[in-house]
Amino acid sequence: MSKYAFGIDVGGTSVKLGLLTTEGEVLEKWEIDTDVSDDGKNILPDIAKALKDKMAEKQISADEVAGAGIGLPGPVDEDGFINKAVNLHWDRKFNVEEELSGLLSGMRVKAGNDANVAALGEVWQGAGKGYKEMVMVTLGTGVGGGIIHDGKIVAGADGAGGEIGHLCINPEETISCNCGNCGCLEQYTSATGIVRLLNEELERSDEDSMMRNREITAKDFWECVGKGDKLCLRVAEKFGEYLGLGLSIIANVLNPKVFVIGGGVSRSGELILPYIEKNFKAHVFHACADAKIVRATLGNDAGLIGAAKMVID
Ligand code: ZN
Repeated sequence: MSKYAFGIDVGGTSVKLGLLTTEGEVLEKWEIDTDVSDDGKNILPDIAKALKDKMAEKQISADEVAGAGIGLPGPVDEDGFINKAVNLHWDRKFNVEEELSGLLSGMRVKAGNDANVAALGEVWQGAGKGYKEMVMVTLGTGVGGGIIHDGKIVAGADGAGGEIGHLCINPEETISCNCGNCGCLEQYTSATGIVRLLNEELERSDEDSMMRNREITAKDFWECVGKGDKLCLRVAEKFGEYLGLGLSIIANVLNPKVFVIGGGVSRSGELILPYIEKNFKAHVFHACADAKIVRATLGNDAGLIGAAKMVID
């Protein structure tokens, strides 16, 4: 019986690594730099070396390790193929599981998309614990998503399941999203999206606001919402309208028990939730309306915890 599992969360600047028990306790976590030189060809060998070094340091043998799970910033299909990852300078389609397993002397490796893997972390050890039907929405620089059905990740046919950020919720939009389409959820509810909504509102009226004549960040914006700034309250309503509408569409399709809201924006506090809930209730089909909306609890660790879970049981 294996006692340990490794969780790996690969980002464009650093790789977060974790040594966990198969019960889900994080025994140790550390980071290495992501070396994107030479089309990112050193990334997997660097990770393999880090894990081997850790096993030597802790005197852990291969048969004590259930495997290594790895979350990656790109679409990963059920068989472990990743189809390009821009942030890692990977410009080809290849099987990450086979390649990393080969570098780790045949250790079991499972790969997944980072947002999906974070959702698995939250459903295993975080805000979604105890639920089998859960959807996670990550509000950061962009908007990511992960769907958990029957306790497992829904990766979809092309590994692109759960791309909630690119739901079109405003067909009238004329400005393009990073994906090339217009009117995506991400354009209004990511940190960048919120800043954009706020700037539009500041231009539209000359009403006084605490956010005038200063650098605008999503974090400061939510602080001003908390202080009751009228203009900011209106923008928070708009944010809630878009996200509430988006979640209602997802709820009608998947009927989850809980939505877990993660990412930097969610760290602004509980005050973001009523704006989402109100608009969610306004649009959702009655039989799907009981879904709870809560904040994530694992923070940056959700990725490595979920990654480890992929190789356990
Ligand atoms: Zn988009």
